[in-house]
Amino acid sequence: MLYHSLENNKNLVSFENAVLTGLSSDGGLYIPEYIPMLNPKFIHNISSYDIYTIALTVIKPYIEKSIPEKFLKNIIHDTLNFSFPLKKIHDNIHVLELFHGPTLAFKDIGAQFMAGCLSFFSQKIEKNVTVLVATSGDTGGAVAKGFYNKPGIEVIILYPYNGISSLQEEQITSLGKNIFSLEIDGNFDDCQKMVKKAFLDKEIQQKYVLTSANSINIARWLSQMFYYFSAYRQIIIEEKIDNSIELIFSVPSGNFGNICAGIMSEKMGLPIKFFIASTNINDTIPRFLKTEKYYPLPVKKTISNAMDISDPSNFSRIWYLYKKNIYELRKKFISYKFTDDETIKTINMVWEKYKYMLDPHGAIGYLGLKKYLKKQKVQNDSSTIAIFLETAHPIKFIDEIPSFLRKKIIFPKKLKTFLSKKRKKQKISLSKDFNIFKDWLLKRK
Ligand SMILES: *Cc1c(COP(=O)(O)O)cnc(C)c1O
Repeated sequence: MLYHSLENNKNLVSFENAVLTGLSSDGGLYIPEYIPMLNPKFIHNISSYDIYTIALTVIKPYIEKSIPEKFLKNIIHDTLNFSFPLKKIHDNIHVLELFHGPTLAFKDIGAQFMAGCLSFFSQKIEKNVTVLVATSGDTGGAVAKGFYNKPGIEVIILYPYNGISSLQEEQITSLGKNIFSLEIDGNFDDCQKMVKKAFLDKEIQQKYVLTSANSINIARWLSQMFYYFSAYRQIIIEEKIDNSIELIFSVPSGNFGNICAGIMSEKMGLPIKFFIASTNINDTIPRFLKTEKYYPLPVKKTISNAMDISDPSNFSRIWYLYKKNIYELRKKFISYKFTDDETIKTINMVWEKYKYMLDPHGAIGYLGLKKYLKKQKVQNDSSTIAIFLETAHPIKFIDEIPSFLRKKIIFPKKLKTFLSKKRKKQKISLSKDFNIFKDWLLKRK
């Protein structure tokens, strides 16, 4: 499998090259040159495979010789070291819990997979590989944890000052060693722009072997397909449903990497009927679907801060996958926005009615799913299974949850151990001026 840039389909690179560079030199995101179809028998018999075999089958065609199968199997085992349970909330509405990893958000999966791939590739490289990453909150922690102490790799994380929760900041800044944190006086889009610019800068390139660990990196992006397949497997096994079932996914979306991995899964043959990209009031994509005009507005702060993004990088992949055709896109895809007020009301309602505690991102996923089902009048249609992704543990966003609900959140054990240790914040504060950042990069060490 080779990859080309979305800006130019003639320049083909290997998986290794695409992972190591993150972004193509023309500034475009990488996309596989074709989408491998899975054998329908494999999908049909999915319940007879374990999750490792499924992950290997799904990802292998994208990697081929870049990583020998023996190593790839190990990377998959290290990545899938926690579960993603699917639970029924009510009617045909299910939640896929993706927060049982080390930093309590779904990004652990992509980060751990990418760390595994990069460790394999870095053995062949003399210089350190520097992972440069902008985070709206959860990527930073997941990448810090996934790459911590990995030989031959250092990580530089840019996060928006006052834009992430205190627990997220703790997860990013407390590790030290090969993990460096930069607090940027700007928002996430500013951080992302600085990272993108650094990749195109000749002087920085001379000094560093740079790669990104944002969801634009194909290793992170593609491994997120694993849990869509896992959800399908669980539905077939647990609910003893036959294979005629189709899934609907509502994905709380910020940079649109997660939902784009779902779209790839569908293109490979997973029976997904429809995608709902649920956003907060940073609603560039809901507006685009209505007006066909892509027009990012300034970022607004919300309580679902991991989605405070108004110019989502991965949307260019989605657009490409639907042939840059709004009618093709609308057949399979809708996007809705929700306010903070609706989010809090939903967290409260779902707790009161179903005793399930949502985090603000999951609540938006739930809202999107409900809205879609209501419009389609398929709330109780038994041939579809409606699933929203719960992308983070509610404890991660406890500051955003109304105080009367906070007491009801069960504290995960992992976190108790984490918080019981006294930790020092190790961070450097910088302005969003690219030249200051560049200077810092060129002068260090
Ligand atoms: C990153 C993140 C999202 C958004 O995912 P994208 O792939 O960027 O769309 C949603 N929820 C949580 C908790 C996140 O950390």
